[in-house]
Amino acid sequence: MAETRHTKTLIIGSGPAGYTAGVYAARAMLEPVLVQGIEPGGQLTTTTEVENWPGDTEVQGPDLMVRMEAHAKAMGCDIVSDIITHLDTESRPFKATGDSGTIYTADSVIMATGARAKWLGIESEEAFKGFGVSACATCDGFFYRGEEIVVIGGGNTAVEEALFLTNFASKVTLIHRRDELRAEKILENRLLKHPKIETLWFHELQEVLGNDTPKGVTGVRVKNNQTG
Ligand SMILES: Cc1cc2nc3c(=O)[nH]c(=O)nc-3n(C[C@H](O)[C@H](O)[C@H](O)COP(=O)(O)OP(=O)(O)OC[C@H]3O[C@@H](n4cnc5c(N)ncnc54)[C@H](O)[C@@H]3O)c2cc1C
Repeated sequence: MAETRHTKTLIIGSGPAGYTAGVYAARAMLEPVLVQGIEPGGQLTTTTEVENWPGDTEVQGPDLMVRMEAHAKAMGCDIVSDIITHLDTESRPFKATGDSGTIYTADSVIMATGARAKWLGIESEEAFKGFGVSACATCDGFFYRGEEIVVIGGGNTAVEEALFLTNFASKVTLIHRRDELRAEKILENRLLKHPKIETLWFHELQEVLGNDTPKGVTGVRVKNNQTG
């Protein structure tokens, strides 16, 4: 028979948001249960240096998340390895179903399930996913060492990824549909000064070009959105 656990506060997700909620809820004596999900530690476990965590000039993402988990645990947060597959918000208490079969009932639920990569949604991108198209420089950059890499976007993620990729690429081209970035100024300055990075303003990716055998990307087709 499925186990049922009741908690005052159920936290879904084990990224920085989940563990922060865990610390606060535990200190508020809410005896929280935190369900980690498929990616214990969240997105920061996929990166290397984190430079904007106050108190550490530089810390490795996975190390930081181990520390956050230990912190939440030490405060009294019960950390469970499970994935929530269904959440019933109509019932009181709330009812969440775990992949393990456990039913979690809770007086309150904190959703800290994070965010996912923002894909362009074009056909050729899908065709070459895993074969030259990636949404994670730290995961895949190493595979493209010595090659020319294109990054699409103008926010923090795009700029950070472009900078990180200079460790591997012979050249990085940042393609952005506008002529200004949304990224933090300090990142923008680093990007614009970097000798390996070229920016292509007012351009949009139309197609990822590549071969079938061996499957891989050979280039991109872009369009100037000012001149066509
Ligand atoms: C490569 C990379 C580098 C980054 N570098 C930095 C940086 O240097 N500085 C910075 O400030 N930010 C950085 N970020 C952004 C930062 O990682 C995110 O802003 C942050 O992780 C968001 O935290 P979160 O807790 O909201 O979600 P996430 O970290 O995305 O965690 C989501 C959690 O929800 C869980 N989950 C999802 N669905 C379920 C479910 N059904 N049941 C249970 N659990 C579930 C997942 O398992 C995961 O644990 C980086 C991101 C990436 C990808």
